[in-house]
Amino acid sequence: MCGIVGYTGKKKPINILVDGLRALEYRGYDSAGVAFWSNPSIKTVKRAGRLNNLVSALQGIEDKPGYAAIGHTRWATHGAPNDLNAHPHSDCTGNIFLVHNGIVENYKTLKEELQKAGHKFYSETDTEVISHLIEEEIKNNPLYSAKRSILNSINKLQGAFALLIMVKSEPEKLFAVRNFSPLVLGINGNDDEYIVASDPTPIARHTRQIIYMNDGDMAIISPKGYEFVDFKHNSLKKDIAQIDWDIEEAQRGGHAHFSAKEIFEQPDVIENVLRGRLIPEEGMAKLGGLETVREKLRGIKRFVITACGTAGFAAEVGEYMFEEYGGVPVEVELASEFRYRKPILDPETAVIFISQSGETADTIAALRESKEKGALTLGIVNVVGSSIARETHAGVYTHAGPEISVASYKAFTAQLTALVLYAMLLGRQRQMSMTMGKRIAEELKNIPQLMRQVLKQSDKVKEIAQKYKDFNNFLYIGRKYNYPIAYEGALKMKEVSYAHAEGYSSAEMKHGPIAMIDENFPTVAIIPKDSVYEKNFSNLQEIKARSGPIIAIATEGDEDIKYITEDVIYIPKTLEMLTPLLTIVPLQLFAYHSGVLRGRDVDRPRNLAKSVTVE
Ligand code: GLU
Repeated sequence: MCGIVGYTGKKKPINILVDGLRALEYRGYDSAGVAFWSNPSIKTVKRAGRLNNLVSALQGIEDKPGYAAIGHTRWATHGAPNDLNAHPHSDCTGNIFLVHNGIVENYKTLKEELQKAGHKFYSETDTEVISHLIEEEIKNNPLYSAKRSILNSINKLQGAFALLIMVKSEPEKLFAVRNFSPLVLGINGNDDEYIVASDPTPIARHTRQIIYMNDGDMAIISPKGYEFVDFKHNSLKKDIAQIDWDIEEAQRGGHAHFSAKEIFEQPDVIENVLRGRLIPEEGMAKLGGLETVREKLRGIKRFVITACGTAGFAAEVGEYMFEEYGGVPVEVELASEFRYRKPILDPETAVIFISQSGETADTIAALRESKEKGALTLGIVNVVGSSIARETHAGVYTHAGPEISVASYKAFTAQLTALVLYAMLLGRQRQMSMTMGKRIAEELKNIPQLMRQVLKQSDKVKEIAQKYKDFNNFLYIGRKYNYPIAYEGALKMKEVSYAHAEGYSSAEMKHGPIAMIDENFPTVAIIPKDSVYEKNFSNLQEIKARSGPIIAIATEGDEDIKYITEDVIYIPKTLEMLTPLLTIVPLQLFAYHSGVLRGRDVDRPRNLAKSVTVE
């Protein structure tokens, strides 16, 4: 995820681009760059770090009015966040400049072909292949228009992309392309100017007239007007809409809080984690970040997964997945404990570190200790180029985009998805059959769709939250794959509503906590139709017998559950291992709505920090 902005019109573009990038900085902020006309040609300025670094670098540079200009604030997916990898990217001839939001899945193959044809690459990004691809197209068909060359090139791309492209030979024009990454066109008819951006925020200060681009659209825009075509060169007619959102609301994608936005974007995030990594026909996961240690992984006899907080609960789900499907023994340990114990590690042990920020102090300390002891170290990290990403031997990025809400939602489900991919890889290297691999791949591919169905029940969850608004104690229970989910659900409730919520194993209830149960102590029970359903059901009956109200997360079609519970939220059926990806969603919504109804600052709960970089 990143922010892109483009301008064409009579004004000087730098200030317009910088203002636009400032409005989009919430979408990504590891580096930024712009390309614009400045005598005698197109100039690119890019800087790692926050936008202010770019602004300083632009001091004193003249920009020419009347021509196209583009800008980007990056959230790296391929290549470290440094000056070279920052966008815009160009081709060998310096004729094409572009910014990109998304992931080009087939960039490796394309890059190899282009390198064979003599193209020189200067960055590690997937994006750069696009500019060379267009260059190659122009070279092979010099009589084609830029529009045609661009269309021919993008038809070769697989993956997600929103692109803004400038071509030297047509200096006034902006070419805007959308495929699975957002892009909107703002029209200021009075001033003959156009602004294209990832969301309406940079546009709203110039005009309220807007066209929402669809997947498969290309717009060719100049100060004289615009036209829309599809990827097959057919003309498209577009309706102009009016922006009726305020700027902050637009940044939150129309949601009241970043928390809600990040809960609701989880299906897209899962699609991003899986992009280019799942080979359903072979029942395999292809993880580029583990390629260098792939052979070594075959010889690993034992895994340790270590993390803190929410990532620690993802690790526990991972343990079950790895043992059942990967066929390897696993231990999970909080990084804060790991670093002070005397962990027994050897070269046949691999330690996996999970962290959204890649900067969690305890996890970094555990990583250094593990390396010292000779273990293979692997990461599951969201922030590209972060300390854990750099210091581990290899790893997998979760590509969840920046998480603004302090409580973690989408980073968690992205971590779970990455763990499924790891489990598939390890399993297929060991005993897992291709048939089983295919089954997991098929079910996993469906998860985003199933998650969208669960999200549709948000209003129902809100009603339940309203009902329990004045309760200050909750018990969360689950078993097997959903045992860690009970803990994560309870943690979310504590973090954003400040109510006391305790995670527990359904089975362990009778060993103590059941003493607390009465009509004022509700239980949130995660009880999908899985291999422990009957056991779980008996545990719930014990609570019911003591008048404890129960809110259940159950599988669609389970009618029996209604008789022993007050409220039920249903999730669609899926493979047992994947149920946590669905059961966590109503729990996130329940915590979120409870927090809002109790008047909490849900995006920034008191006393919490987004990334815990101290002990
Ligand atoms: N994949 C591109 C990169 O890593 C674009 C990432 C983004 O959307 O910011 O540079």
